[in-house]
Amino acid sequence: MPHDPHQWRLRDHDHARRVMLAQGSGRAIEHPIWQSRSAPVTPRPSLDSAITAEVAIVGGGVAGVSTALHLAERGVDVALIEAGTLGSGAAGSSAGIIAPQLVRATPDDVRRKLGDAADGMLRLVAESGTYLFDLVRRYGITCDAAETGFIAPLTGRQADRVLNERVREWGGLRPDLRVSDAEETQRLTGCGGYGAAIVDPTGGSVDPLALVRGLADQAERMGSRLYEDSPATQIVRDRGLWSVLTDAGELRARRVVLAANGGNPLLHQRLAGTILPLPVLEVATEPLPSDLLQAILPERHALTDLEPDVFSIRYTSDYRLITAFPASGRDTPADIERRVNQRLADTLVAHRPLALAYVWLGHAWVNASLLPRIVQLDDGLIAAQACNGRGLATNVLLGRELAKALAGRPQDAMIKAEPPRAVSGFLLARHLPRLLLSSALFAKRIKRRLGVA
Ligand SMILES: Cc1cc2nc3c(=O)[nH]c(=O)nc-3n(C[C@H](O)[C@H](O)[C@H](O)COP(=O)(O)OP(=O)(O)OC[C@H]3O[C@@H](n4cnc5c(N)ncnc54)[C@H](O)[C@@H]3O)c2cc1C
Repeated sequence: MPHDPHQWRLRDHDHARRVMLAQGSGRAIEHPIWQSRSAPVTPRPSLDSAITAEVAIVGGGVAGVSTALHLAERGVDVALIEAGTLGSGAAGSSAGIIAPQLVRATPDDVRRKLGDAADGMLRLVAESGTYLFDLVRRYGITCDAAETGFIAPLTGRQADRVLNERVREWGGLRPDLRVSDAEETQRLTGCGGYGAAIVDPTGGSVDPLALVRGLADQAERMGSRLYEDSPATQIVRDRGLWSVLTDAGELRARRVVLAANGGNPLLHQRLAGTILPLPVLEVATEPLPSDLLQAILPERHALTDLEPDVFSIRYTSDYRLITAFPASGRDTPADIERRVNQRLADTLVAHRPLALAYVWLGHAWVNASLLPRIVQLDDGLIAAQACNGRGLATNVLLGRELAKALAGRPQDAMIKAEPPRAVSGFLLARHLPRLLLSSALFAKRIKRRLGVA
């Protein structure tokens, strides 16, 4: 089976676009900001022989390296193969916001949908922020971890009621959540127009690439073998073992975890059509002047709102603002700078045009439920399907749960493996996430112009 892990129709277009951004603006560059911040790393070897491990992991993003680390903690012999470099997928192009909240659903929605399985799912999300920051501290991982809290505002006259209800639904799982009213929300965020916000003290932000590399280093110190530049091309069953083939090598194991995110569906036909791509542009500004630093997120929360067009902002450790923008595929660098600033000006009470220092494109992959999933594909073959544009914290904890399922008592794992579930109408639906995000943004602008938002 011919295979390129980053293979996707948009790929060439994306690359051309990133180069265009790099050349066009004189300031923007084609790599995520995280690549220019981290110390040089020594590349891992590629897999060029036949090796055996107890568990094979395909994909070195946050899900893969966390699973490797947690299995290594249990003394399991692990080998992980990564197509590019560790963290080069969604993790390394993400905004690094630690948001231990459900993406869209409310806790009661999850209870209705999952029944008995809901409690574990809700605990996974509820505990994910605290677990991530504790793990980072436990292993001394240097990743600009800022446990400054996460804030999720909502517009509308009913916002206060709606969010208080949501906090109530979390119940004993999250007694630390609270709701800020409109006035406090404006003070905490620097944003106008929100009616209330959930304030979550267990969130914050990280440098996501440094997080992946730190988890990987620790997994390696504990005995895991990690290979880069080693895309899995095929997975076959051979005399009771799984055999993961690469161009030059073979990894044989009794159990295999597919943690390749957007690459998963290319590796197993039962995963075809189970996740949809969501291209997102991320930008980082030049460092902000001190008056804006005092006006915008003065307590340094990380923010993602609960609106359909999903506005998010966070600071880097050198006080650049990172924000996201739905990728349209047609914007020039000047358009992007203008549109990002327009959106910031619409939302932030204090705003001056900000120069963009970094612009990059990432692909989040979403499933229909927007909930993390472990998928059982075959005996000894499982997949983590858990991006949903919000997977950093949950995937770290998912790694611990996968390790439990593989090397402990599976019944103790917070979430249980499920069969694959295709997104209905995939051929049309694959364009939906991007279209929904862009049209929500467009609708909000129109409403603002008409003075109704
Ligand atoms: C632009 C953007 C912004 C985001 N912002 C946030 C945020 O602020 N907060 C948050 O929580 N989440 C965010 N996310 C989502 C988050 O990045 C993902 O949920 C998380 O990184 C998924 O982790 P993963 O390990 O499953 O996947 P990935 O990080 O994508 O890792 C999968 C790895 O598998 C490798 N791979 C693919 N195919 C193969 C193969 N055949 N063989 C070997 N390796 C293969 C890839 O190269 C990749 O390194 C964002 C995502 C994007 C794209």
